[in-house]
Amino acid sequence: MKSQPIPFTVSKTENFFDRLGDYVGDVFYDILPEQGYELRDEQIYMAFQLEKAFKNKRTIFAEAGVGTGKTLVYLLYAICYARHRGKPAIISCADETLIEQLVKKNGDIDKLEKALGLNVDVRLAKARENYVCMKKLDPLANRTNNEEVLRVHDEIPDFVYDTGARLRSFERYGDRKEYPWVSDATWEKIAWDSLQQCSTCEWRHRSGQTLNREYYRHATDVIICSHDFYMEHVWTKESRKREGQMPLLPESSCVVFDEGHLLEFAAQKGLTYRYNLETLSNVLTGYMGQDVREESLYLVEDILTINDEWFQLLGQNSTAVIGSNRQEIDFSPEMIEMAGDLHKKSGAITGAACFRCRIIHHRRLLCENYRGILGIFLVWLIYSTKR
Ligand code: SF4
Repeated sequence: MKSQPIPFTVSKTENFFDRLGDYVGDVFYDILPEQGYELRDEQIYMAFQLEKAFKNKRTIFAEAGVGTGKTLVYLLYAICYARHRGKPAIISCADETLIEQLVKKNGDIDKLEKALGLNVDVRLAKARENYVCMKKLDPLANRTNNEEVLRVHDEIPDFVYDTGARLRSFERYGDRKEYPWVSDATWEKIAWDSLQQCSTCEWRHRSGQTLNREYYRHATDVIICSHDFYMEHVWTKESRKREGQMPLLPESSCVVFDEGHLLEFAAQKGLTYRYNLETLSNVLTGYMGQDVREESLYLVEDILTINDEWFQLLGQNSTAVIGSNRQEIDFSPEMIEMAGDLHKKSGAITGAACFRCRIIHHRRLLCENYRGILGIFLVWLIYSTKR
């Protein structure tokens, strides 16, 4: 889509930010009140603080009361600045409800479009779990009677199966929202998950996820995503580039975090790994299905057994902390020994020659991370028991 013009004129002798300030003043003092919007001091104050931040390319933390109309303020600046720079603004929201408030009919973007006569190009960047994975769906549909799975399979557009289809005939498909009748349990069986290796997938160029990503990547005004997704983008940006893939989000003119105080939790989730009993089992069981040496298979079995015992021991030595969802762990020499053993053996398996195989690169990565976590945990255990 061709970029829309900025909604005010800037002559060669004028400065963009001066003209932006004039335009925002007109919008909040004249245009919006003429259309029944109330003039609010807090909104005006925030607008001029934002203008300074954009002008000086600085980060700004803004806090304003509920119902102040802060969303209209940041949207106005973000859209004008995106058009000025020729790159979309990214708006990261804490949750789906906030995203919905922005994009729904009579939501904030709709109101701004109507009040100012704008046509805003806004696109959603959703987490990968929101898209159907053909690599999972297609084989499953051939061996299941699950009505929901079969119906989704039937609804997949024909070009997906036609390897000779021209790129021009590709259309977006596979968004969770298109299948409201699918239960969450079924969706998990057919949607992307973290064990899928998209970079080596044969469906890649016709995958719903790829086509939807290609769509939002070309937004000219605004891309909206969740804090979780933004953090995943930050976390994977460099590694994706190293692997010759594009980052999850394109270059942007600015990033706005709505409900920014909730970003910390999203960062914690996005920039750390969570491991539970099943994670390692899934990774290693998948590995056992590959063509591997016998000694590696014994090693895998050994690790799986110790992993089970390790989690049992953690459970036995943990007590719930009242008023929190944390567990307090009592350390013992047995725990240190077991963690050390697991750490050593998981090191041996990640070093196994077959693990160099690109197709299972992701499993190796998970295994290495698991080992890293064990290592940190081990140091912490030893340190804590010595104190
Ligand atoms: S590209 Fe990724 S999400 Fe798409 S079918 Fe392949 S593995 Fe699944």
